Amino acid sequence: MPFTAMREYEGPAFHMACQQFDRVADYLELPQAVRERTKWPKRALVVAVPVRMDEGTVRVFPGYRVQHHLSLGPTKGGLRYHPDVTLGEVAALAMWMSWKCALAGLPYGGAKGGIACDPRRMSVGELERLTRRFTQELIPFIGGHVDVMAPDLGTNEQTMAWIMDTYAVQGGKETPEIVTGKPVGLGGSLGRKEATGRGVAFLADRAMSALDIDAAKATAVVQGFGNVGSHAARVLARHGAKIIGVGVYDGATCNANGINLDELETHLRANGHNIAGFKGGEPITNEQLLELKCDVLAPCALERAITEKNAARLQCRVLAEGANGPTTPEADRILEERGDVFLVPDILCNAGGVVVSYFEWVQNLQSFSWSEAEVNDKLYRILEQAFAAVIHRAKREGIPHRLAALAIGVERVADAKQQRGLFP
Ligand code: NAD
Repeated sequence: MPFTAMREYEGPAFHMACQQFDRVADYLELPQAVRERTKWPKRALVVAVPVRMDEGTVRVFPGYRVQHHLSLGPTKGGLRYHPDVTLGEVAALAMWMSWKCALAGLPYGGAKGGIACDPRRMSVGELERLTRRFTQELIPFIGGHVDVMAPDLGTNEQTMAWIMDTYAVQGGKETPEIVTGKPVGLGGSLGRKEATGRGVAFLADRAMSALDIDAAKATAVVQGFGNVGSHAARVLARHGAKIIGVGVYDGATCNANGINLDELETHLRANGHNIAGFKGGEPITNEQLLELKCDVLAPCALERAITEKNAARLQCRVLAEGANGPTTPEADRILEERGDVFLVPDILCNAGGVVVSYFEWVQNLQSFSWSEAEVNDKLYRILEQAFAAVIHRAKREGIPHRLAALAIGVERVADAKQQRGLFP
């Protein structure tokens, strides 16, 4: 049997991250040794997290943290709560974080964490006990200069506040830099909550201007109306775009005249984040949503939403990937052959979150806070630079945007590994 390293991570998301890496490593002609060192996650921790449920029983949840590489600084990455979380998915997300941080020029390696649980079916008390116990299990593995967490799918500012508090109680001192994306009142950065969606909208605008599309007359479809999707939709709408479709867990809605986002938000809040029954649009499925004709399609929910099954049927001009890994390599090939969709790849498109997380970490280390205008200004400058670098490389070398973005990110990590050398 051929030797395959790291079978532990097997699964569709990790397979996809490896396919992407292998393509870029072939393209860059990385020597075998640096290729292997750059690819595989450095370390992973799997923990059993026992939680006393409200009705008195105890349930054990599997929790994971993967740190992909340690060559450019501490590791950084979100924490996901979702029933389908696996070690392989977390490892794939950690790899993508590595290329994303390197592309944006941040002094971090990639990491990701996750707990296989359904936060929608858990009480606030259960979620707090789960988060605190998970943090406790992770203490030897994390730290402000070791590994820093942030919100992701199914987690939020409150989750980060519990992690920070647990870490402070255990360590006997305040360490706000242990997490980013925490409430502003506890040392969070102004503009962090909105940063990922804001970045998605900013880069979608840049893509539209490259295509001579007037952003003020554009139409947009957004899958996912959580932290990323809701802010992306709101900023696009503020710039004049009409949001003609939105999808969440239980389905989607479309309205050619534009969806009223305030009404949608009120409906979701009142109905446990279910879209069913929303009166401001026609009910459609999430599959139909992705195929609506629009200028900008922003998948901001889960991985592998765009596959070989629907890639040929997309009717957008710009594909702005707010989610991590929303497009499979097979779908990439189809879109590349079509050549009529301007891709803003995930590691660029959703980098706004980790950029402002980095600002939050810097502010915490300095016990200082910046104004929101300063945060946004610095954010846009970094995104603009990364966007220009990706477009320039894609044009110069005649390669797709995703390959260009990954090439920049992977190259920086590979260079750092070579410069640091191999110990011992
Ligand atoms: P969230 O939990 O705040 O929101 C997720 C949204 O996706 C919800 O509206 C949910 O209903 C919807 N959703 C979930 N499953 C779905 C499905 N099968 N079909 C349609 N909709 C579905 O999560 P988030 O923080 O907004 O993260 C969304 C994506 O963005 C994830 O891929 C995450 O990794 C990525 N991301 C998040 C951040 C961040 O700062 N939060 C940063 C970078 C990337």
